[in-house]
Amino acid sequence: MEKDCGVWEGKTAWVTGAAGGIGRAIVQALWERGVSVAMHGLPQDREALEAMLKEGRSEGHAGVSDSRVVLADLADPSAIASASEEIHRLMGAVDILVNNAGLQHVSPVEEFPPERWDAILGVNLSAAFHTIRLVVPGMKAKNFGRIINIASTHGLVASAGKAAYVASKHGLLGLTKVVALELAPFMINCNAVCPGWVRTPLVEKQIEARAEASGMSFEEEMRRLITEKQPNGRFATVEDIARTVVFLADPASAAATGAHFVIDGGWTAW
Ligand code: NAD
Repeated sequence: MEKDCGVWEGKTAWVTGAAGGIGRAIVQALWERGVSVAMHGLPQDREALEAMLKEGRSEGHAGVSDSRVVLADLADPSAIASASEEIHRLMGAVDILVNNAGLQHVSPVEEFPPERWDAILGVNLSAAFHTIRLVVPGMKAKNFGRIINIASTHGLVASAGKAAYVASKHGLLGLTKVVALELAPFMINCNAVCPGWVRTPLVEKQIEARAEASGMSFEEEMRRLITEKQPNGRFATVEDIARTVVFLADPASAAATGAHFVIDGGWTAW
């Protein structure tokens, strides 16, 4: 696909949860367009993020030289505010915000640890509220902005055992629509992406737990996990999700706002 790097030049993105999985692929896809990225992670992600930067430099991507590693625990609103200030000071106002970081915990509702509920709601939903409220003034000043929330099929349908995750992702779709309505007059779009299964550490942990409970092999549980939900029988790739994020950040999608884009191999088409 031909890349029109002109429209991307000088753009700055903030990608949360950038150290691995889907976040890493999003950073790389934005770099390929020449976007500078605030690569956000937890303090323990520093090494992985710095290694990514080094690798990106050696691959010669245009956006890498002005990219930065930013560390903050998204469960802590004051840490999010500090990260936002740091990004603004080092890189200027953010053009593209990708709320990607997320957490999962699987347990029946009556056994669900309240602290896991709080952590999941905090990272998957409240953190997106905070990053959005902090970047919007800068976007309004530019009369341009793209806010992309990585939700899930679990923003649309439920699965047993995932009370906090499903509630947070349904909430994230609601937040996406409100923000889209409020910011439409300012050329600031807000959309969500709803992946089905993507093979990342978040899902591998679930397969390991299922294999331990059932006594089956990791591979057998992985096949079961995929086929019980996803009619195409395959994981989506991290690149599939990153390409959708790039589309939503692109001028070609200027009229798309308040929407969600499903990439789930048919999961929610039942
Ligand atoms: P992942 O576990 O590889 O990545 C999650 C990222 O979130 C990690 O980089 C982690 O450091 C970061 N994170 C977690 N808690 C944090 C905190 N307190 N502060 C800062 N960062 C924190 O998982 P992934 O699959 O790449 O998930 C990315 C997003 O995609 C998540 O929002 C997830 O809900 C969503 N998603 C994933 C799938 C899937 O099948 N993998 C499906 C649908 C939606």
